[in-house]
Amino acid sequence: MSSNGTGQMQRKGRKHPKSRHRTKISFPRHILEQSSQVGYKSPVAAVRGGTPAVFPFFYARHTEPPMSKVVIITTGGTIAMQHDSVTGAAVPAVSGADLVRAIPGLGSVCDLEVREFDNLPSPAITPDHMFRLAAMVRQYLAMDDVSGVVITHGTDSLEESAYFLDLSLEGHKPVCFTAAMRSGDELSPDGPRNILAAVRVAASRSARNMGSLVVMNEQIHAAREVTKTHAANVATFQSPWWGPLGVVDGDRVIFRRAQLGRQTFLPHSLCKKVDLIKLVTGSDAAYLDFAVSRGVDGIVVESFGRGNVPPYVIPGIARALEKGIIVVNATRTGGRVLDEYGYEGGMLQQHKMGVIMAGELSAAKARLKLMLILSQYGPDGRPDPAEVARYFEHSM
Ligand code: ASP
Repeated sequence: MSSNGTGQMQRKGRKHPKSRHRTKISFPRHILEQSSQVGYKSPVAAVRGGTPAVFPFFYARHTEPPMSKVVIITTGGTIAMQHDSVTGAAVPAVSGADLVRAIPGLGSVCDLEVREFDNLPSPAITPDHMFRLAAMVRQYLAMDDVSGVVITHGTDSLEESAYFLDLSLEGHKPVCFTAAMRSGDELSPDGPRNILAAVRVAASRSARNMGSLVVMNEQIHAAREVTKTHAANVATFQSPWWGPLGVVDGDRVIFRRAQLGRQTFLPHSLCKKVDLIKLVTGSDAAYLDFAVSRGVDGIVVESFGRGNVPPYVIPGIARALEKGIIVVNATRTGGRVLDEYGYEGGMLQQHKMGVIMAGELSAAKARLKLMLILSQYGPDGRPDPAEVARYFEHSM
């Protein structure tokens, strides 16, 4: 493989892309005898302009269409870092093309194009970056010869970007986020293997209609379910209570469950501001009042258990709702928020006040979803709270 300078990776010495798809098929003896009597040529002989076939088998094209192209978009993260010789700490260092150049076996999966979006540590990624990344991905997915997109990203905020794109892209083509827990200059780096697996998934027909995926450590996770569970271990990405959608086993991509009820929001711009407030024991209304004072359009509160909050927070929620601010409640535990506790601060009280329940979404993901939903109403549009609630109730 080589780069032509525009980031386009080219494979050398490949004469006819279809020739790789030949599968050997055996035929019964009487058919072979008939075919050689009437002078049929085998497809191989025909391509070479040769004499009638005498081989005891034919070649035929495999039923899968020719492999098409996967676009790898790089955004940064540990996968593109190396250790600084002075500080000894990992810093952004590796270009997009260099990241994929030396991965054994990658070039034989499919054609590749590499595009550098940025080279940022992922705590520096903002929702605006995600919005622009979604626009870039959308352009590639619209191309007929592109079967899917791989995005390399830092692991710290990967689940947020992956979920944002899940909500921002229509269509059946897969978008696979991948990353590394170890930089390329550490012992046993995990990045190259993760990129290879992600490209296999993005090139696979079985990944269609699965939305945005996270491919790490040979597992395939749904963007809306996955979370980073460990600060250092390579098996950090897990989908608690759900498990992975599938696995990459060698060169095989295997899915065991599908994605139901995907939603897409396509605002013209990300024009609405949403704050996330984490509640802990003893929390009061101060941060809610602060959010209201800085003119937010929505607030996500990260609650306890079934959505319950300290009672001292309730007056702040009431003041936010009075101002027309949408308040969404997401639990810190995982599992569904539900209005089954009737005490002061319980989810039943909040629900009756007009607080929207985020279902099983994490607070960070609920915040991105609320930004996208509210932005659909435009800079001056007032949201319909019942409609916003339905988006959260119907799906993750
Ligand atoms: N701090 C890094 C980042 O998220 C960690 C990683 O890439 O895994 O960019």
